[in-house]
This record gives sequence, structure tokens and C-alpha cells, in this order.
Amino acid sequence: MAEICPLCGNKSLIKRNGKLHFDPPKHISTETVIVKDARWEQCEECGEKIFSVELEMEIDRILRERCSIQGKPWKGLSWADDELVG
Ligand SMILES: [Zn+2]
Repeated sequence: MAEICPLCGNKSLIKRNGKLHFDPPKHISTETVIVKDARWEQCEECGEKIFSVELEMEIDRILRERCSIQGKPWKGLSWADDELVG
């Protein structure tokens, strides 16, 4: 039941669920975000992860809170920037 990955074009995008580990862009946080009971799609070829809107919002919320604790300004989670860093 794999689907085509928008990044590498291989038919290796599979639905995943469980505990998600997400490495945020370094300028936001150096600690990995862990979301329990997450659902996402992941490419087995290139490792590209595709998040649902709900999951993006959850990660956004966690990082926003983390920035606020550290006294950093919140500039939003730019997914494009993340791709450049990775
Ligand atoms: Zn891929």
C-alpha cells in the first residue's frame, strides 16, 4: 500500500503511527521533539516524513512552548528552512 514520495519519486511512502521523533531546525531547538500516538507518512527510500496538519500543529505548539521557556522569540516553524538545514 505504498504511495509515491513527493521528494524522491519512489513508490515507498508508507503510513506510520506511534512515537514520532522530529529534529527541529537548529536555530529553534537542538532537542528532538517526541510526539506520542502520532500518525504520519514516511518514505522508506529517502526518509522524508510527511505530517498531517494536526501533527504539524502539535509540533508547532511544543516548539513554541520550548522557545517561551528559553526566552527565545518565536518566529514560527519554517518547514522550508528545515529542509535546507537537513
Ligand atoms: Zn522518498
